[in-house]
Amino acid sequence: TIALLTGASGFIAGHVLKILLEKGYTVKATVRSQSKADYLKGLYPADAKLSFAIVEDIAAPNAFDEAVKGVDVVVHTASPFHFKVTDPVNDLLDPAIKGTTSILHATKNFAPQVKRVIITSSFAAIINGAKGDWPEHTYSEADWNPVTWEEAIGTNPATTYRASKTFAEKTAWDFVEKEKPNFTITTINPPLVWGPMIHDVTPETVNTSNANVWALVNGSQATIPATPTPAWVDVRNVAEAHVNALETPAAENQRYFIVAGKYSYKEVSDIVLKNFPELTGKVPTEGVISSKKLYDVDNSKSKKDLGIEYISLEQSVVDLTKQLVAWV
Ligand code: NDP
Repeated sequence: TIALLTGASGFIAGHVLKILLEKGYTVKATVRSQSKADYLKGLYPADAKLSFAIVEDIAAPNAFDEAVKGVDVVVHTASPFHFKVTDPVNDLLDPAIKGTTSILHATKNFAPQVKRVIITSSFAAIINGAKGDWPEHTYSEADWNPVTWEEAIGTNPATTYRASKTFAEKTAWDFVEKEKPNFTITTINPPLVWGPMIHDVTPETVNTSNANVWALVNGSQATIPATPTPAWVDVRNVAEAHVNALETPAAENQRYFIVAGKYSYKEVSDIVLKNFPELTGKVPTEGVISSKKLYDVDNSKSKKDLGIEYISLEQSVVDLTKQLVAWV
């Protein structure tokens, strides 16, 4: 089976690529430059079934028309996840939404043999920011972020990012309904994703979600920060969910909230200090310890359909911190 993996240079995609190759898929990976292709190529034996297509900007018209040719399945992870927004439309909304439209149109027009498309969406497309702590609520696949375009193009980068994922996912479901392509879609919706990094990364370029843990261990914070989004999952479970979804008929046209559970930065800091006593003095021990009740999360559908066995918070934080400690 030949899989197209978009955004292969990313944190999550690095793990998806690893599992696909381990399971015997032939992978065509899209990256933005030859140097990113060279880095990934270097991670695997010379005879690995891995080739590349350069897609510099997923927001460009017909970005994937060439890349999709000849593949059997598609995994679309590429989408910007950062808060360095000067222009909400150009920086986040366009690449997320047009990138999704582009991969779906290209697949329909140039790869009619494709039956399955997996799309990395997010808890960002589920959460209702206006509800805040919402203690009486349990989030699941049934929830949709009700964000509007006006809010999306406002001045809060977190709202813009969440909107980019919401509109991108809606675009995908609308596409399937209206265009009736030969393929079904499955969306994978994780909250904050942590865990070991196998992509090309430095302390300066650490991906947005792991940056939160990096900030906690590198001595840059005097106090424990607040926990604005208290749901998390390990990257290895997220990657496994993408590949299991490809192989599970029950996952066709389904949405999956891939969530291990809830956390607070106080718990993360306790885990780090227990396992890495050498970080004492760097990791904050005082600060925000909230006793507020918060919304709950439901991962039962992902366990049932995709067989995910969730990695514990301690395991995930320890495995990530093993890497971060070398940077301190
Ligand atoms: P990364 O920033 O590590 O990966 C993002 C990937 O998308 C990179 O390969 C990046 O390429 C590529 N990309 C971004 N913008 C463009 C563009 N305009 N043109 C071409 N390629 C582009 O982040 P993650 O691995 O965390 O994110 C992967 C996916 O997971 C995204 O869809 C994100 O929204 C989603 N997600 C992430 C969560 C998390 O906590 N990490 C939580 C929920 C969802 P390059 O490296 O060259 O910039």
